[in-house]
Amino acid sequence: MKPLARRSFLRGAAGAAAGVFSLPRLSAAVQTATSPYRRPKLKITDIRTAWIRSQNVQLHVRVYTDQGLTGQGEATDSAIGGAAIINGIVDSKAAQSMGQTSLYFGGMRSSLIGQDPLNVDNLWERLRTSGIWGGAQGGQYVTAMSAIEAALWDLTGKAVGLPVYQLLGGKMRDRIRLYCDGVPNGRSEPAKAECKQVLDMGFTAVKTDIGFRGRGGTEGPKWTAETLDFEQMVDAVAFVREAFPKSVGIGVDLHGGADMTSGKRLAIKLEPFDLMWLEEPVPPDNIDAMRDIREATSTPICCGENLFLRYGFRELFEKRATDIAMPDFQKCGGLLEGRKIADMAHTYFVPIAPHCVVSPIGTMASAHVCAAIPNFLCLEFHWRPRLEQWRTICKEGDVIEKGFITIPDRPGIGVEMDDVAARKYSMPGTPFFEAL
Ligand code: MG
Repeated sequence: MKPLARRSFLRGAAGAAAGVFSLPRLSAAVQTATSPYRRPKLKITDIRTAWIRSQNVQLHVRVYTDQGLTGQGEATDSAIGGAAIINGIVDSKAAQSMGQTSLYFGGMRSSLIGQDPLNVDNLWERLRTSGIWGGAQGGQYVTAMSAIEAALWDLTGKAVGLPVYQLLGGKMRDRIRLYCDGVPNGRSEPAKAECKQVLDMGFTAVKTDIGFRGRGGTEGPKWTAETLDFEQMVDAVAFVREAFPKSVGIGVDLHGGADMTSGKRLAIKLEPFDLMWLEEPVPPDNIDAMRDIREATSTPICCGENLFLRYGFRELFEKRATDIAMPDFQKCGGLLEGRKIADMAHTYFVPIAPHCVVSPIGTMASAHVCAAIPNFLCLEFHWRPRLEQWRTICKEGDVIEKGFITIPDRPGIGVEMDDVAARKYSMPGTPFFEAL
């Protein structure tokens, strides 16, 4: 390369690098390279949020455009700061001190207004790279991004008249198998009756929570299980195994509640039950420890609900630390990021059983990803609070049949929030999609 040419190349590279720091507008090349005859021309005009009360609080995000089309997405778990990250902060006191009427600290919203919402991955990449000093490696920043990304896919689907699964590569399956989480294991008549109720609803997989750690006890945190702890946990799993026929798969969640040796011993003691999986016997913070447990037992290990982005899952797969991965598409980075994680898992022949604790909006968004990936196993569903939500805040009503969701062919995600009904569940003192 000639010196002059090399210098001009470096200048161009420096300009490109500087661009990622401040979420620049899309380049003219991207805007004009698309056909005006086939491709809708849209601009984002606003992004608004709503908090909905359920078993946990749900953050809903709606993207508005200059042509009246809207898209909706949802964030969960590490979403409590999500509205501020999306909306930015209006500080009138600081503004007064500076002689202004308002002072705005821009969030993701200000970066996205005016942009073309159909360039979903481009906007995603820019939000992420411009936020690397603001926590874009995981947690609330990525969770907020996940809701926006899902809303952009819903919007894109509506704009081009196609369901989201089509935009993610097309359909591998028509129906999405749900597993019913939260089945009781306390050896009581009411627990037995509830298991029977779940079985009668047609679910082909269930999950139950076990543990031995006291919360806030005077002795402090407990990580090591002893004889009676093991007996109680094994008996809890035995109860669930007896309550369901062998045609129903059983997952068990320890919520990262044990030290490595206790997790390993428990996984081995549970081998006779031939579980679908034991979920996070230790926290996901040390992938080597998770791998050591996996290598010591024939009980399949499941991990991933608190990992973020492809980058967060890479080590899990490379170290063969899990048998099943459970990204949460409402927090791991979004629907396409979920597809990318699933594809990475598939290169290691690891199946996907997504974590899912959201409303019908988020559940159906997750279901579209599940429809599009080859290595799907089953999708989480908490039947008591979530079923109630299908019947109240979702215009389409309860679409779950015998433990399966049939993927709709309607454009976008294919379900809509009933605003009149949903507003009743809005968190007091928070906006319900009102403009800021
Ligand atoms: Mg879990």
